[in-house]
Amino acid sequence: MRIGAHVDSADPLAEAAARGADAVQFFLTDPQKYNSPKPREDAERIRASEVEVFVHAPYIVNVASPNNRIRIPSRKLLMAHARAAAELGAKGLIVHGGHVGAGADLTAGFTNWRKAFEYAESEGGLPLPVLIENTAGGDNACARRFDDLARLWDEVGRFGAGFCLDTCHAFAGGEDLTGIVDRIKSITGRIDLIHANDSKGGFDSGQDRHDNIGSGKIDPELVVAAIRASGAPAIVETPGGVEGQTADIALLRERAGS
Ligand SMILES: [Zn+2]
Repeated sequence: MRIGAHVDSADPLAEAAARGADAVQFFLTDPQKYNSPKPREDAERIRASEVEVFVHAPYIVNVASPNNRIRIPSRKLLMAHARAAAELGAKGLIVHGGHVGAGADLTAGFTNWRKAFEYAESEGGLPLPVLIENTAGGDNACARRFDDLARLWDEVGRFGAGFCLDTCHAFAGGEDLTGIVDRIKSITGRIDLIHANDSKGGFDSGQDRHDNIGSGKIDPELVVAAIRASGAPAIVETPGGVEGQTADIALLRERAGS
């Protein structure tokens, strides 16, 4: 059972070591900008490391958007990040489910997701799994409510899309954490990664505010149960820097029994 943290991208392996993490996640670029990743000097060191690596795509990526000035650059940026993440030997590229905006038809969002995968195939195919992450809110989000997740998977499942379950987002998004792994797997057939986060916001609040495990509104046992049931690696995206995340990792490891 691998448990790690989302860390600063400057020296992710050092950050992992500081936390006793055996998995790590980071951004390759400023998450709010349309920047393509640059080659990294530490690429070979990261590839050779025992630490399992995940890359998080920029937040600005929204391949579901009905606005082509957002959707088209998002598609291209996702592909650029997939290539750069594969260069590092990453196990997956995590990307938020995205949203179509208030008043728009969510059906277009699902179709646009299919088109994003079709674009990737036309570009030679994805060099690593893209893991679609459930979100806490967003106007007309594609992957907040699991009824919508089923419609999304009708479009992307055939392309081998992966899934990342964020426990904070699910709780704040209004999905019960009890038995959640089975519910997701009945839709997607897979969970590739758990984002193990507590939530400052209440159930169904729509607030994306992560908290340290046991400090927020979620029963820590439900987070532990999700990790255990999924059999997937877990990444904490929690506050408190080295100290806060080290404690979160230790707690999850102890309770998840590894
Ligand atoms: Zn997350």
